[in-house]
Amino acid sequence: MPKAYRVVIARFCHESNRQNPETTGEDFFLIERGRNTLRSPSGVLKGLAEKLAAVGVELEPVFSVDAPPSGLVDHAFYLRRREELLEAVRQLKPDAIGLDLHGAMGTTQIPDAEGDLLEALRLLVGPDVPIAIGLDLHAHLTWRMLDNTDICIGYKENPHSDTVECGEKVAELLIERLEGRLKPVTVSALVPMVLPGAQETASGPLADIHEKAREYTAQNPSIRDISIYNVYRFVDDDEIGQVVTVLSDGPDANAPSIAMDLVTRFWVERARFKDDLLSVDEVFELVRNSPQKRPFAIGDMGDRVAAGAPGDSTVLLAAALDHHPGLRGAVPVTDPAGAAQAIEAGVGATVSLSIGAGFTPGFKPRLITGRVEHVSDGAFVVEGCLGKGSRSEMGATAVLRVDDRVFVLLTTKPSCFLDPAAFSSQNLDLATLDFLVVKSGYHFALNFGDLATPVLVRTPGVGYYSPGQFTYEKSRFWPEVNIPNPKVVAYQHSVGTPREIVAKAFA
Ligand SMILES: [Zn+2]
Repeated sequence: MPKAYRVVIARFCHESNRQNPETTGEDFFLIERGRNTLRSPSGVLKGLAEKLAAVGVELEPVFSVDAPPSGLVDHAFYLRRREELLEAVRQLKPDAIGLDLHGAMGTTQIPDAEGDLLEALRLLVGPDVPIAIGLDLHAHLTWRMLDNTDICIGYKENPHSDTVECGEKVAELLIERLEGRLKPVTVSALVPMVLPGAQETASGPLADIHEKAREYTAQNPSIRDISIYNVYRFVDDDEIGQVVTVLSDGPDANAPSIAMDLVTRFWVERARFKDDLLSVDEVFELVRNSPQKRPFAIGDMGDRVAAGAPGDSTVLLAAALDHHPGLRGAVPVTDPAGAAQAIEAGVGATVSLSIGAGFTPGFKPRLITGRVEHVSDGAFVVEGCLGKGSRSEMGATAVLRVDDRVFVLLTTKPSCFLDPAAFSSQNLDLATLDFLVVKSGYHFALNFGDLATPVLVRTPGVGYYSPGQFTYEKSRFWPEVNIPNPKVVAYQHSVGTPREIVAKAFA
């Protein structure tokens, strides 16, 4: 490399569920600044930072601002972080900017926070300073985000086992762009639909679409990335849908037809994107009748903290206590007041508490009586492969043993959505349990590995999309609305030139 480039890097990640009535404020976020940003990086930030540093780039880490999915972000908090990043860029005058963003952050005032952030950065640095971002494949990818970035690519896998690789690829493309070896042009196309189910990329219709994308990439040397975004289903904005992006070195003659073909496959295959989740009774019968020794990790789809739900459901707890005697398990419930009361009573005390249902409309609280087994500040370090080494916080947490067989984790913050350390840090031995409830749908399977068998259950709550359940004010998409034959438009995005329509067709 002829000169040492200086690159501002930062992470600002949140997936904002507008169905969750709680606003996500500063206390929800883990914030690191300056060099601390890189103390134990994970995901895109890790891949980006390590790859850039390995080729001699001087890193200027600004911050890592990260929270688990939850309700819309407090707009004033967002604006303060935006200004903090802009001010750092003003002071540092970097050669480029590399960001780890989720891509589905909404605030109490705007549905496309990343679009707003990237536009503000672009206005500040002009067209010649490259901006490169890595996104979650559940991003709500908007034209505004694409118009203001040189390089925008997403994860390819759900569960997200390739987040670090995504960051490395962002870094590689950014270096090529800085050295003048890459003139990035992105073609994008959107079809207005969400996926009710079949969200995993290793099997089913998504596996087929990704296979086709890899084929296209192999056949077209100037195409450097094809990303396929399965939009987060709990946003509401003018255009939401499945998005395909094709990033090439200079305009590629095949890119528009490739984007159109891949995105149209979603529409053609839409009947295959249905879910086949077990009911609560079916899942407990599975647990009861299984000969296996290791526990089942039951993904509570309705109350998925991993999709922005509050984690305050008592549905699975009530089913286990009332209908499945003999089963030993662990169930987390977000309940700050209950956790405080149990901690106040102290380890060894027996308490009766009405727990849960503090946040989600329609949920019912549950009266439990149990012995306080353990209390802590709820901090732990992620042990599984996704986010390994990163800090996680449940807030003040108490474990109650109910009916001598079900451990209830009363947490202050929504939690228990990814990693076994959430349980083991509370002195729970997973090997002694028949089941444990995880507030997640997909990613936990990676982190639990051999410790538990993942299974998903259909439950009520704001973390599970089923057609007609929620009100959307802006968005029109299938299957919420019957769209007989949606029009698909492919746009070309290239920094410094206006967005251009490069193809149009009915799906
Ligand atoms: Zn995701």
